[in-house]
Amino acid sequence: MYPNILRHPGPTPIPKKVELAMAENMISHRSEEFVKLYRETTERVKPIFGTKQEILLLPSGGTAALEAAVVNTVSPGEEVVVVTVGAFGDYFVSICEKNGLVVHKLEKEWGEACTKEELADFLKPLSNIKAVFATYNETSTGILNPVWELAEAVKEHSDAIFIVDGVSGIGGVPAEMDEWGIDILVTGSQKAMMLPPGLSIVAVNEKAWKVIEANRSTAYYLDLLSYRDWAEKGMTPNTPAVSLIMGLSAVCDLIEEEGGISKTAERHEVMKNMVRAAMNALNIELLTDDEYASPTITAIRTPKSLDLAEYLRHLKKKYHLDFAGGLGRLQGKIFRFGHMGYCFPSDILQAVSLMEAGLQDFAYSFEPGAGVRAAQDVYLASLRK
Ligand code: PLP
Repeated sequence: MYPNILRHPGPTPIPKKVELAMAENMISHRSEEFVKLYRETTERVKPIFGTKQEILLLPSGGTAALEAAVVNTVSPGEEVVVVTVGAFGDYFVSICEKNGLVVHKLEKEWGEACTKEELADFLKPLSNIKAVFATYNETSTGILNPVWELAEAVKEHSDAIFIVDGVSGIGGVPAEMDEWGIDILVTGSQKAMMLPPGLSIVAVNEKAWKVIEANRSTAYYLDLLSYRDWAEKGMTPNTPAVSLIMGLSAVCDLIEEEGGISKTAERHEVMKNMVRAAMNALNIELLTDDEYASPTITAIRTPKSLDLAEYLRHLKKKYHLDFAGGLGRLQGKIFRFGHMGYCFPSDILQAVSLMEAGLQDFAYSFEPGAGVRAAQDVYLASLRK
């Protein structure tokens, strides 16, 4: 009866407008209606990526988009650098290793970002790097890597292309693919893009297309060249996720109605600051410093003396509030508060209030209302700007 309050870093709640768009009658992916839908929608996604490049739509989860970015650009035996600051950076490492690439791994502590200087120092002694991979928004730790600076390091210290996983950021954070010099940027549907899982979105610039053309990948389903050829006709090589593309068009409506992606990103910034202020007021530690904190997900350390699994179970059972646990080495040590996509400051106030109710149930020592008040202060200050 009670709706689940889904505060995960993906999948995320779906707006009614998007649900209704996805419930439209099915159309053929070789019809004029589809060509119109595809052309108009991909055009409207471009500002969300900060690009003028063609937008490609793959009927797949985010991992397939990462794999497409790897297998189309590099071949076994070639050298790549992977910047990894968490579980999803490690996805790139695994995909590259599985494809027989020589992987130079720039690994940071989970909870830290990679800086331009660190990447520059790492690249300097390497001479043969074909591609550099990095995660923009590391979902396992709540870190937003400064990819605009990492792109500079790549350009200054190599001839490599720079490939970025934007899966849990794009749609909720600023992205200027062309201006920053990102050569391939990919994202998935089920996070800040406000859609169900199953669609991935890829943009490739001229420099990367040249690399892809010369690479002669054996990929078939994930062959980006065939996506590019079909995109020219306003279609995809195989049957696309038609309903999700209808939903994507409604997502573009919503972002445009909010005033464009910069306004949407501002809302995410406010929500990040609300969550961080609330946790500080409750004396609950955050995993990351403010400097590189993600606007879409906050990793929160287990409140002192609490059994985290019990607390999360309790929040879900009694208050229908659903947070995500930690991944990999952070399992049991943190939980993750997703605040992306169809999520608003009022949702943060609700979640913090229920979190506090749960803390009281566990006899956690804190000043009741302090978290909500701190979050509210941030919200009201943002309205006065
Ligand atoms: N990259 C990041 C940053 C993610 O957060 C995720 C999923 O959480 C993925 C890649 C993988 O996407 P998917 O689970 O849709 O395959």
